[in-house]
Amino acid sequence: MSQLLIKHCAAILTGDKQQPRSSARDIRIRDGLIAEMGELDTITDEIVIDARDCVVYPGWVNTHHHLFQSLLKGEPQGLNLSLGGWLAATPYRFRGAFDEQTFRIAARVGLVELVRSGCTTIADHHYLYWPDMPFDGAAILFDEADKLGVRFVLCRGGATQSRGLESDLPTALRPESFDSMMADVDRLVARYHQPHDSAMRRIVMAPTTTLHSTTPHELRESARLARQLGIRLHSHLSETVDYLDAARAKFGMTPLQFCAEHDWIGDDVWFAHLVKLLPEEIAMLGAAGSGIAHCPQSNARLGSGIADLVAMELAGVKISIGVDGAASNEAADMQSETHAAWQLQRARKGMLAQPRYAGGTFEGGGDAASIEDVVRWGTSGGAQVLGLNTGRLAPGMAADIAVYRLDDPRYFGLHDLAIGPVASGGRASLKALICAGKVLMQDDVITGVDLSELGRDAAQAVKTLQQRAAV
Ligand SMILES: [Zn+2]
Repeated sequence: MSQLLIKHCAAILTGDKQQPRSSARDIRIRDGLIAEMGELDTITDEIVIDARDCVVYPGWVNTHHHLFQSLLKGEPQGLNLSLGGWLAATPYRFRGAFDEQTFRIAARVGLVELVRSGCTTIADHHYLYWPDMPFDGAAILFDEADKLGVRFVLCRGGATQSRGLESDLPTALRPESFDSMMADVDRLVARYHQPHDSAMRRIVMAPTTTLHSTTPHELRESARLARQLGIRLHSHLSETVDYLDAARAKFGMTPLQFCAEHDWIGDDVWFAHLVKLLPEEIAMLGAAGSGIAHCPQSNARLGSGIADLVAMELAGVKISIGVDGAASNEAADMQSETHAAWQLQRARKGMLAQPRYAGGTFEGGGDAASIEDVVRWGTSGGAQVLGLNTGRLAPGMAADIAVYRLDDPRYFGLHDLAIGPVASGGRASLKALICAGKVLMQDDVITGVDLSELGRDAAQAVKTLQQRAAV
């Protein structure tokens, strides 16, 4: 494998907590790893990437997504609804409309969108499963991720329970049997799962929701099987107040207590959302070393609220960032997501400010999260949640690196270039994007991807889905 040298970086954010900035100007990459950082001389036959005026971050790690939703953006029936209504109006109404071709285009749109934001690791919570599935979604997802050269973590979702009578449901909403679901997890692990920490492919046990998707007994059994297979556990939790009501009504406890009772807690578990956690749940989650995939744009779009990352991090919860499916955010890329995370944590704290005469102790939330915090959450935080040797720029780490060129006027006038990609939002163009030492993008172009053609394919696929869902 040829050697790469990224030279003359204007600024580097490392994703590290202790040393969030590096004074290095050059980064040498060898055999998929960062070999050296500092002032480095070019070696013969080394490919040099000129990063003059560029800002360098670790490749983003997106820890929660539903790629099939990339063709359901701005769907009018669900646009102004909260989670429960939106689920029925948009993702569930359309799920049976997908076939192999539309699913592949959806996956491609979502993956390309992420890569163009500097993302190199993607965990997709894939839950389009029903009995006698007509296509193998997992194979398509791994294939599309492979073509782009990113790391891909398939969180195998699905359900064995349904709320309605099974025979009344359309095929695409019918549940699987627990045995067939677990047999598929076994198959996927044997075929794709790489246990080592520089994995390009991983499988995760991920029933769609812990409260509703399986019976309590099956939930405990799924945790046991996951640990037997050596894979991690992921699910949705406490996205809205409905989780608190449902857990109390069905089980007489809090949502997280229910998970803990069924072995769905620990340092191998991470949950998406966690918007409505009680203080005792935050303490419990932190003590267990579990993680969150924070999805601020989706939580804002659905009006669910803003997760309290600051309290969670203090309690020891591992913090990561996920874009969630594009049916609930319209922009499933890591630059807009981290920009939202930065602003919303500050807004959240500001909402809690009280006048001093009423006992208030602070004016606002300007100190709630720094850009360095957000970059760490979106890079090394995600890698920690997934158990990968990525997300941090230091010798010995995987060479997953985004080199941003701040050539759009929205970045002009910055006093500190390093914060531009997150603080100014938008989409900074990529001088280069590197994953496992391979160049995926150069001068803002993904080799082999025709964006105009992808746009036409997406528009056609949206029409097809609309026709099928209208029947
Ligand atoms: Zn989700």
